[in-house]
Amino acid sequence: MSSNGLGDPVETSVSDEPHPKGRVDVNLSVVDNRTRLAELALDPAVARIRQEMADQSAAFETAPAGLVVAWAVERFGPKLALSCSFQEAVLIDIAVAVDPGIEIVFLDTGSHFAETLEYVESIRARYDLNLTVTSPVDGADGHPCGTSQCCEFRKVRPLRRALSGKDAWVTGLKRSDAATRRHAPIVSYDENWGMVKINPLATWTHQDLVGYAVDHGIPQHPLRSAGYHSIGCAPTTRPVGEGEDLRAGRWADSDKVECGLHL
Ligand code: SF4
Repeated sequence: MSSNGLGDPVETSVSDEPHPKGRVDVNLSVVDNRTRLAELALDPAVARIRQEMADQSAAFETAPAGLVVAWAVERFGPKLALSCSFQEAVLIDIAVAVDPGIEIVFLDTGSHFAETLEYVESIRARYDLNLTVTSPVDGADGHPCGTSQCCEFRKVRPLRRALSGKDAWVTGLKRSDAATRRHAPIVSYDENWGMVKINPLATWTHQDLVGYAVDHGIPQHPLRSAGYHSIGCAPTTRPVGEGEDLRAGRWADSDKVECGLHL
């Protein structure tokens, strides 16, 4: 059993045996999400936490990201994890300054650039991270790159497995990333994931990130200097041209704009 973020059990079937190399072996039977969403919509406890988080989000609208992370660490303790794509390490720098032991989750889709994996290792060593690295779930190979099922098997289900038992997750989502994220709250109860979602960088721009990284001496992803500004899996990421949107290099040959983690 895992939690729905309110301390209530949610049915899952997973193996908790850690991989000997630190990866999480995934053997997941995901609870029927539609059923859960319907149940949650009727749950008064969900209504309460949804309102609490909406109020908290409004209070944080001009707060520094470190203060948001500090609140999350205080509020959720070990039932908090931070999901990081390792396109850069600003949020990690902020989070470990608050809690050096905060659990960081990286979704290894099996399709990342070699430079991304090298960057993960360099940031892991720099901060001595408490890092969980997931692997795709069984069946991933049957779904070609660029399809929604590819992300489902390589990102969404592994993240659900990694967040099993957590009450809240921290993400690097920014409103400035894309039109689909323009109204992202800083804190919310995410009914799709059944837990609280915290976006400490929601109000940041790309330039804010770059400025913070320079000011704090954070190494940048090696592909940045080659024009990659939003870096996902190698088969579906290309450099961004002059004047293009910063996420224009993601799934450039399709109408896909999100991988399913932030729907
Ligand atoms: S980003 Fe592309 S290659 Fe990576 S998991 Fe999603 S569809 Fe597959």
